[in-house]
Amino acid sequence: MEEKDYRVLLYYKYVPIENSEEYTEEHLTFCKELGLKGRILVADEGINGTVSGTVEQTQKYIDTMHADPRFEDMEFKIDEADGHAFKKMHVRHRPEIVSLRLGEEDIDPNEITGEYLEPKEFYEELQRDDVVVLDARNDYEYDLGHFRGAIRPDIRSFRELPDWVKENREKLEGKRVLTYCTGGIRCEKFSGWLKKEGFDDVGQLHGGIVTYGKDPEVKGELWDGKCYVFDERISVPVNQVEHVVVGRDYFTGEPCERYVNCANPECNEQIIMSEENEHFYLRSCSHECRVHPRNRYVIEHKLTKEEIDEKLQAIEDLEETQKQAQ
Ligand SMILES: [Zn+2]
Repeated sequence: MEEKDYRVLLYYKYVPIENSEEYTEEHLTFCKELGLKGRILVADEGINGTVSGTVEQTQKYIDTMHADPRFEDMEFKIDEADGHAFKKMHVRHRPEIVSLRLGEEDIDPNEITGEYLEPKEFYEELQRDDVVVLDARNDYEYDLGHFRGAIRPDIRSFRELPDWVKENREKLEGKRVLTYCTGGIRCEKFSGWLKKEGFDDVGQLHGGIVTYGKDPEVKGELWDGKCYVFDERISVPVNQVEHVVVGRDYFTGEPCERYVNCANPECNEQIIMSEENEHFYLRSCSHECRVHPRNRYVIEHKLTKEEIDEKLQAIEDLEETQKQAQ
């Protein structure tokens, strides 16, 4: 396989960081000097990052981090890339490295967490009928791709997940619960919280979907669709054996894997839509968003008032025909 010039690194570590605010500043300087781009969160409880750079830059980063006793065993998931996956370099100080906001109930994954399952073990358990598989990610991530048969919590952000579990206890009660997320970091805390909540039998996919997709034995099997990522790539492939499209066009319900943001800057909702529908619906999720005075589609395409009216009329006509067909 031909090696590309750039790489994207995904990594995290729950480990106490003293003077974490000071560390945040130093780390930003270090990353900028290296020429990396990306997003890193630093907290008292650890570090969570995804960065892009040339092979040389990213290798230097890995080596430097591994030379630090706190991060000497930190695992880096490495993707080859054609260029940077970010525009800027941010290192931010936060109360947590993933926002679950458990407050008083907060847990330390080094003390309590779900059983680690390697890709092969996870793959085998997926096929058992006495387990439930719970996706620990957000609804828009699930909608682009997920493990076959996994439960989709309808949450827009990770911190809503504990409440979702409390309201849906009966789905998990008395069963072995498997959780998974992109790189494994969310499950470290979430699976620990599940155990603390009284779910005794909890397993988590070690290294997350990204590791699962690269595993030479399981090759991403039983994953359908693509894996949503929080950088300019938007998604990465997982299943190396077969590709089942699970994403659906927001307007037509046809198979589609193309995410765009609603053109209304105040909405900005991520929606799956084909290129054709982007132009037909002015890349907007609703009529209200289409007529928003700062609609980005209208501005980008320099649409005149007449052109907008013509498009709105075409949408109205189509919706009318659809209503009659029902
Ligand atoms: Zn919208």
